[in-house]
Amino acid sequence: MNYYNENTVLYLDGRMIKASEAKMDLYSQSLHYGYAVFEGIRSYKTVSGQTRIFKPIEHFERLRQSALALNMPYTWNIDELIQATYEVLAANNLSDAYIRPLVYAPANMSFAQNTESHITIEVWEMQPFLGEKLLRVMRSSFQRPNPKGFKIHAKAAGHYVNSILASQEAKANGFDEALLEDMNGNIAEGPGANIFFEKDGKLFTPAGGNILMGITRATVLEICTDLGIPVTEKICSYDELKKADAAFFCGTAAEVIGWGSIDDHTFPATWANTQSAKIQAAYKQRVTEDEKTVQLETTSDKQEKLTATAGL
Ligand code: PMP
Repeated sequence: MNYYNENTVLYLDGRMIKASEAKMDLYSQSLHYGYAVFEGIRSYKTVSGQTRIFKPIEHFERLRQSALALNMPYTWNIDELIQATYEVLAANNLSDAYIRPLVYAPANMSFAQNTESHITIEVWEMQPFLGEKLLRVMRSSFQRPNPKGFKIHAKAAGHYVNSILASQEAKANGFDEALLEDMNGNIAEGPGANIFFEKDGKLFTPAGGNILMGITRATVLEICTDLGIPVTEKICSYDELKKADAAFFCGTAAEVIGWGSIDDHTFPATWANTQSAKIQAAYKQRVTEDEKTVQLETTSDKQEKLTATAGL
């Protein structure tokens, strides 16, 4: 995968610079200890041909909350980062893109807190998912990090070593992706996506506490409300999942992607006939529709609300 070429531009500490000329300090605490926070955001070409970043306030607010959770200095505001992201997209002539903001630490080989952080926003092309493929998923031998050992609501770089181990294990065993359980042995999430499953037309998803509270997960919950599909957030076991009619992963990168099987068990429902498939179609439509022209809430209103709920 080519993330950049000699013409690619990225955002670094307030400036647009060529990706091929950007430098970072090899003595950064982030590189040595995984002490950084990041976001994964998508932009889409809307039905009228505009470039739209999907849920940018939610993502940049989570970035701020992640940095605060890790005691990293954070000095940027949401509007400035959204504006910078639109500029990076335009400079690279991209509409359907993956957007990766990363907040990282300066040179520091100790564990002490820093007085400043750096920020970069990188973008690369990513086409929307067509939704035809069904995943073969493996129950991972790895559990998600213990919430008493990590701030698991933060999207911290170091947590992703766990994701890498689980995903590589699944692929080495001939599967497409992993499903991880939490420290209590209940199902939690994928290496980079949340999970829902469907039984008798009802949807279920693991409750908060041991998972990253995905922004796509929140969108799926909104879609369920809009479509009148009953959905329950609760502690879910592997055995319950195995008795489901269908299941899917959801995440910014994954969007909504159905499962064909978990381990040696094939889900019985025909994907196209499920409520899950309806949700997948609604998600696809939602991300590519034009933004409402009437903004009912200002950015700061929305940020205040998000901070108050603080679930990330
Ligand atoms: N869980 C994990 C561990 C993730 O890395 C992600 C991707 N950020 C998600 C869930 C889904 O989150 P979102 O919908 O906000 O992308």
